Amino acid sequence: IDVTDYQKILNQIQQELSGTKVTGRVASYVPELAKVPADKFGMHLYNLEGESFCFGDSDECFSIQSISKVFSLALAMKMIGNTLWKRVGVEPSGAKFNSLSLLEDNFGIPRNPFINAGALVVADVLVSYFSDPKAAFLTFLHELTGNDTITYNETVAASEKSEGYRNFAMANYLKSFGNMKNDVEDVLDFYFHQCSITMSCRELPQAFIVFANQGQLLGSDRQFLTGQQVKRINALMLTCGFYDEAGEFSFEVGLPGKSGVGGGIVAVHPGHYAVAVWSPPLNPKGNSERGMASLERLTTLTGYSIF
Ligand code: GLN
Repeated sequence: IDVTDYQKILNQIQQELSGTKVTGRVASYVPELAKVPADKFGMHLYNLEGESFCFGDSDECFSIQSISKVFSLALAMKMIGNTLWKRVGVEPSGAKFNSLSLLEDNFGIPRNPFINAGALVVADVLVSYFSDPKAAFLTFLHELTGNDTITYNETVAASEKSEGYRNFAMANYLKSFGNMKNDVEDVLDFYFHQCSITMSCRELPQAFIVFANQGQLLGSDRQFLTGQQVKRINALMLTCGFYDEAGEFSFEVGLPGKSGVGGGIVAVHPGHYAVAVWSPPLNPKGNSERGMASLERLTTLTGYSIF
């Protein structure tokens, strides 16, 4: 295979993996997510030359869930800079995305911004900073992608709120340590909305290409994030983007990336491309089973990862 022939490689991934059995289950703790058909499968790669390669259900929007934590982190870093690190750490957790157990030992400082506890602290920062954080978050995404159709799915946000006992517990727990400044209700309302954003495999790499392009928007000379911010976000995606499977993802795929319980995964090859894959069944660690396999095939068939 010609390493630059991404379309051929994507076709091969589709052929190899669309027929295989998956043992994982579609996320069901958010009732709305349980309704998504398990056999959806799509992938889209967008390179720095502005070329697109795709297959399957790559234009269908799905719930980005925890992938949104990369956007909220980027916005918080842009707004308050390095003071953010006083309230959230940068170490892998080795624990599940919704773990409460590490907070006690760390005096309420979450291990990193991608586990739920850390994302709730980042959400709190944004709720403090903006008078209308939900509007500001969408504006940020629209500027990043040049696509102002991206928006919240109110049904998914309400569905998650209706069963969000663990996130409520976590926010209250953070508050008991003084690491949650706003009303728990307000922070969770923002957090459930950010998770409810729907995007397709085509749209996600358009947002993530900035992380492959040293912070510059593609096709413009606008420096959207600094080189240092991009370095840090990519480092966090590599070490913490897959919770207690971050090591496995680095080992098998070798790219910074971020997963969500909607079954999406986005990964970035700095200097080359951003890629998204969507397949709803999740493995026991909460990451898309077929999505992980697809990205492993991508870096194996191209012969290139960041390593
Ligand atoms: N909205 C989900 C939650 O807070 C996000 C989790 C995820 O995608 N890993 O539980």
